[in-house]
Amino acid sequence: MRGNSRTYDELRAYCESVPVVDCHDHSVACGPKYEDPIQVVIAGYFHSDVHSASSDADMGILEDHSKPLAERWPVLERAWKRTCHTGYAQVTRRVLKRFYGESELTLATLERMQDRLLDLTDIATFEGILEEANIAVRILDIWPDVKKVLDGTLPLTPRGRLAISLPDYHSIRSYGDVQQRMAPLGRTVTSLDEYLDACRAIFEGHKAFGAVTFKDQSAYSRSLDYGNPTRAEAEAVFNWFMEDPRRSASYPDGTRPLDDFLFHAFMRMARDLDLPVQIHTGHMAGIRNDIVKATAIGLTKLIELHRDVRFDLFHANWPYSGEFLYLGKNYPNVTLDFCWANIIDPVYCQNLFKQALSSVPHGKIHGYGSDFFGSVDRAWAHAQIARDNIAIALADMVDMEYLDLDEAKEVAHAWLFDNANAFFSLGL
Ligand SMILES: [Zn+2]
Repeated sequence: MRGNSRTYDELRAYCESVPVVDCHDHSVACGPKYEDPIQVVIAGYFHSDVHSASSDADMGILEDHSKPLAERWPVLERAWKRTCHTGYAQVTRRVLKRFYGESELTLATLERMQDRLLDLTDIATFEGILEEANIAVRILDIWPDVKKVLDGTLPLTPRGRLAISLPDYHSIRSYGDVQQRMAPLGRTVTSLDEYLDACRAIFEGHKAFGAVTFKDQSAYSRSLDYGNPTRAEAEAVFNWFMEDPRRSASYPDGTRPLDDFLFHAFMRMARDLDLPVQIHTGHMAGIRNDIVKATAIGLTKLIELHRDVRFDLFHANWPYSGEFLYLGKNYPNVTLDFCWANIIDPVYCQNLFKQALSSVPHGKIHGYGSDFFGSVDRAWAHAQIARDNIAIALADMVDMEYLDLDEAKEVAHAWLFDNANAFFSLGL
């Protein structure tokens, strides 16, 4: 991708020189060690577009590594022809070009790749690609072994800072859930008060380990429209399942008063710990999920109540751009995060970066987050696309004489690095 504005090339080159804060990633470990060329093509999020352009049965064939390439290629070719122009496909194209020297996808391409598949379990390779991507630091949402967080022995992938993975702590439905969450503390919890105390101790332990934010992606399974139930309503649910370890509260209505109550309690803990809260909004990974429950506007009541909590709203709330801009403009405790969105829909982001510049304080925009599980080859491509999107948007605005080139560079620096560095107190 390239912009056709007069200042595009200079701005794009500038963006390349700016180190980027990766606001969101899931790299639990360095990897993968690719074993199959088709795996390289459909890895990461492109898997969803290929699925959307084919069928469950076709995906079964593509993922059966025991079948020869020649047998699977016609299935891949049919899907590729239908989905080779999405943002996710752009990631695959760039990976093929940069790491395998291939500019077209054919059976011969796959056969040439076979013996040259990347081994990303090699830390030096992994780190080298991060270096090339000029990714300075990464905020990791990795659902860790909490015992290792608390005793300080949890290993992180290169350049990582920990996020506190929140959903498990408020989605409890049974006695077993409660004891499983609290096992790392070695406590047996018997009441809601004890549960809240224990959660606080776990979050404090994360902060002592170096966690820089909370992170919640409950929108995958529940509405972001959190109610504000009474303690008695929440405690009734908690006590009901605690008094008989064989009980399980029903989803979604049976668990909701407790889930909502705990979420509010955790927001107060985030305030007390002075840690921001990253929240998944908009599009969800995979296919076949309900978007209505995930749009950021559902958070309005939560944002208005918890004014001392800093919310970082994710994924540009794709595809609800207007609501996203509104929340960023209207609430001092909201920042807008474009993690993942740059490849979900590059053109959406190019347009939204422009609109954000003209409507939302530019100090409230976080421009990049990889959002992969390992796959640093794809993170490299993603960072390229994010820089393209920002350069295209800002160069257009310079051409419109909305701001001058030096100001555009300042904004680019803020969006790629400064804003997130300050917001997450990264101290870079
Ligand atoms: Zn994510």
